[in-house]
Amino acid sequence: MDVDIKGKMTFRGGAHPPQNKKLTKDKPILPGPAVKQVAVMLSQHIGAPCKSMVQKNDIVAAGQRIGESDAYVSAAVHSPVNGKVKEIALRSHPVHGRSMAIVIDVDAETNAPEKPDLISSENVDLDRYSSEQICDVVSQAGLVGMGGAGFPTRVKIEPNPRLPKKVLIINGCECEPYITCDYRLMIERADQVITGIELAKKASGCERVFIGIEDNKPKAIEAMADMLKKTPARQNIKIVPLKTKYPQGGERQLIKAVLGKDIPTGAIPPMVGVVVLNVATASAITEAVISNKPLTHRVVTVTGQSIANPGNFYVPIGTSVGDMIEFCGGVTQKSAKVVMGGPMMGIAIADLETPITKTSGAITLLTKEQIGRAKYKSHKTACIHCGRCLDVCPEHLNPTVLAHAVRKNLFDVAQQYYISACMECGCCSYVCPANIELTGHIKTGKIYLARENKRMPK
Ligand code: SF4
Ligand code: SF4
Repeated sequence: MDVDIKGKMTFRGGAHPPQNKKLTKDKPILPGPAVKQVAVMLSQHIGAPCKSMVQKNDIVAAGQRIGESDAYVSAAVHSPVNGKVKEIALRSHPVHGRSMAIVIDVDAETNAPEKPDLISSENVDLDRYSSEQICDVVSQAGLVGMGGAGFPTRVKIEPNPRLPKKVLIINGCECEPYITCDYRLMIERADQVITGIELAKKASGCERVFIGIEDNKPKAIEAMADMLKKTPARQNIKIVPLKTKYPQGGERQLIKAVLGKDIPTGAIPPMVGVVVLNVATASAITEAVISNKPLTHRVVTVTGQSIANPGNFYVPIGTSVGDMIEFCGGVTQKSAKVVMGGPMMGIAIADLETPITKTSGAITLLTKEQIGRAKYKSHKTACIHCGRCLDVCPEHLNPTVLAHAVRKNLFDVAQQYYISACMECGCCSYVCPANIELTGHIKTGKIYLARENKRMPK
């Protein structure tokens, strides 16, 4: 390997929460549980929710499309299993509160826990595929950004004459503490991830490709670099080791670190010719295009000190959090919080029936002690005007003014201070010595404004 692993590039601001990745970083990806039931949410993405294409008592097959929308910004959903539709009903959604889901009773005889196919690039002829074909397959397969945001992948990679795409950046940072699903993909499936990158490059027309990986993942950097070196056509894809800092994997922070480019507030990466894709999305592009497999499964990290057997699992989308916790041996000590995602940006859930969606990379169980250590303490004081929240904010906002404005219902002030630019990274809350829930207040303000502006149901 001839890549200098030490990351030199980064962004301004950010924090250094404890990584806590050792619980699962050496755990290979294994098949998940043999579930009896899955709940496939009709909205797992940014954009219009799907309408169900099936009814109660319909028999469905694994890979069958069961929900779709006519809207351009949306993503179809597919059944991950053979089974029978039990009902179409409200279920707890990890992001939206309650949302409609297709609940399927699994046919135990024809379903076995799956290990992901290992797709080799050896017999893959990329010249066979046109940009249009790749975009079509990606759309048919219901692909969305699997790093958290869930933006439909077709919309991201499809050429747009008004906003030509020039640079493709692959996000291999996985900066959120505890989570290791992308890390394991890069180590175990580097070839598959890189094939997906090549397909995305071809589809989008990007001339340059960079893979950003934090320098606390030397094995992932090595695995990806070795796989790039094997094929001359891949030599123009560059790995960029980045400083380990949270939230290095945020789109704007990644672009700043890799290209040195600032995205103006209110702008999005395509406006500056950049496409950002997560490594799991790249891997799913390969599965869709080469194996004709829609997005029905994903790798999920189940972690935290209180879970008996933490690990990384290839899981049918729609599997409940409760089934995953049981599969991992249950809890060994009292968990104070179950979080979909990691401790910084994840969302605490109260209902263990909440299903895994296309964007759920982790289930993290936190004990009281861990929450305390992460500084989310119940003991709060008044703001001491130390300015730490301003120093760490990667979006260069004033978190204390924003939180104060929301608390006092001064939403016009919150907007003047660019509340919508907050990426909800949690850095300000993490460093605040007064333990003020800055991010919580800002999130509340953003939801209020989204509802007022009819971008979100009341
Ligand atoms: S204001 Fe938003 S973007 Fe800035 S540190 Fe707080 S949560 Fe992160
Ligand atoms: S970090 Fe907390 S105490 Fe310091 S200025 Fe910000 S809100 Fe105030």
